[in-house]
Amino acid sequence: MKVARFHAPGDIRLEEVPEPVARPGEVKIRVRNCSTCGTDVKIYRFGHHHIRPPRVMGHEIAGEIVELGEGVTGWNPGDRVQVIAAIPCGECEECRRGHRTVCPNQESMGYHYDGGFAQYMVVPAKVLAVDGLNRIPDGVGFAEASLAEPLACVLNGQELARVGEGDDVVVVGSGPIGCLHVRLARSRGAARVFLADLNAERLTMAADLVRPDAAICSGETDLVDEVLKLTGGRGADVVITAAASGAAQQQALQMAARQGRISFFGGLPKDDPIIACDSNLVHYRELTIVGANGSSPAHNARALRLIADGAVPVADLITHRLGLDEVMDAIDVVARGAAIKVTIEP
Ligand SMILES: [Zn+2]
Ligand SMILES: [Zn+2]
Repeated sequence: MKVARFHAPGDIRLEEVPEPVARPGEVKIRVRNCSTCGTDVKIYRFGHHHIRPPRVMGHEIAGEIVELGEGVTGWNPGDRVQVIAAIPCGECEECRRGHRTVCPNQESMGYHYDGGFAQYMVVPAKVLAVDGLNRIPDGVGFAEASLAEPLACVLNGQELARVGEGDDVVVVGSGPIGCLHVRLARSRGAARVFLADLNAERLTMAADLVRPDAAICSGETDLVDEVLKLTGGRGADVVITAAASGAAQQQALQMAARQGRISFFGGLPKDDPIIACDSNLVHYRELTIVGANGSSPAHNARALRLIADGAVPVADLITHRLGLDEVMDAIDVVARGAAIKVTIEP
């Protein structure tokens, strides 16, 4: 079968390898869609300390079951499934307390295990053990189902930031994650959602699709001033930074309303993670700053439900469908910010 394997930074190879076999407790799937995201670009450029090459990349996975390993029950060949990306251990203190997104023993598809840039893939027993395999509802395509994973991460972020009825929400960063944040905030009853990006072209492309109440090009206007103007000087109830930008995080503190919540959804480069935080803003305005570290298996199941119900439409966010041999083109398109969502159909 064909796979796209990471060998070293700058070195992803399309290779022919034997099909994997489902061992006891595992499930083998025919991958139908594996979508790409900014993380794949990061891995391509810098590698990742959890990846020991060669490793098949790809973690936004949907496909159909072709083979069951010994002892697997409840599934059948032909079942259409979505696979979680982050695998909690299910046994540590955090997992026992229900904090599965921050399991210190977390492993990931495409990092510790071969991922979905392949025609066939084995779902590890550990994934099945934590309910990480989800049945794709009728009417939901494989490509849409592959977006359940990023949507699950967005859902985790908005739960932690308590996005709800009547909120004015600012989303900074208009990539696929930013678009999902706009759509999810609407489905949770936000009053107004504003979308901002430094890149005017990408912002226009995203705004045409997700129709925010205002699209703010932070390369051309002062984002904080603009948000204060739009909210009558009050600021936004929730500010979500879906960009790897310390400057955006600092601005988020300045444009949050009293009792506002700030989600540092996107992480910062690990060699430059320090920002200036006016802690008196946090103190006097009673701000809440939250993080977000991926998603739990339960978030994936609920994200798939949100897609199936039409609460968060995703089909139109998939702007590019490419074959496995075009995986380098896919990474290039994502790196240039020239697409919303790029999915690979191996
Ligand atoms: Zn991803
Ligand atoms: Zn754990």
